[in-house]
Amino acid sequence: MPDRKPLIAGNWKMFKTIDEALITTQQLQKQVGHIKTVDIMIAPPFTAISLVAPFIKDTSIGLSGQNMHWEKEGAYTGEISADMLVNAGCQYVILGHSERRQYFNETDEHINKKVHAALNGGLKPVLCVGETESERDSNKTFSVLDKQIEIGLQGVAIDHVDNVIIAYEPVWAIGTGKTATDEQAQDVHAYLRKRLNDIFKNSAASSIRILYGGSVKPNNIKGLMAMPDIDGALVGGASLDADQFSAIVQYE
Ligand code: PEP
Repeated sequence: MPDRKPLIAGNWKMFKTIDEALITTQQLQKQVGHIKTVDIMIAPPFTAISLVAPFIKDTSIGLSGQNMHWEKEGAYTGEISADMLVNAGCQYVILGHSERRQYFNETDEHINKKVHAALNGGLKPVLCVGETESERDSNKTFSVLDKQIEIGLQGVAIDHVDNVIIAYEPVWAIGTGKTATDEQAQDVHAYLRKRLNDIFKNSAASSIRILYGGSVKPNNIKGLMAMPDIDGALVGGASLDADQFSAIVQYE
């Protein structure tokens, strides 16, 4: 089995002023900055990224944007490019989060353009996919994921595969306190792994990390991480608190 280093990622969403972001980042640096067995990533709001960067330089904690535009630059008021994120200190970018799909009308086609721009710009995209509760109830989970993965990754070259990260985030589990069971999540992750192998027609796809996201907390991370196809977590609410996030990072 390929060696997939676990990644525990924190999505801070639209929370934390610069001062608050600096406090949490420094706490994380002290608590988990030395950990070598797990990759750690935090996604602060844009305003804080470049200011927290020096505090986690040369630690295990990487930085991510929460979104970006696919163009390199231009008259796109309110947007930010891959180059700008890299310049601010990012190695990753979260793309296609369900909140972006739901509230900002992002389509799979938009997200695909962003995936390409991220990879070409030297960022690792964390492509978020997941079904809503009604889609799950009407047995559409796998067809929804097929579309999100196929269009989201359309045209991605095999030599970029190692930099692609997928986050399976069932929409009904985000911020709701409802988590998929370990087995429910594993079933979907195994399905996604198979689809990735079909798409890339190459076993290189087995090196892609697939994170689980949806109400991950210190008390449920261990069971999830014991599943063979769960390679980490994308954490929302619990990542805002350094103690809770550090406990999740140290799940073992
Ligand atoms: C998320 O926003 O990606 C997420 C999984 O949130 P939460 O952990 O709060 O459910």
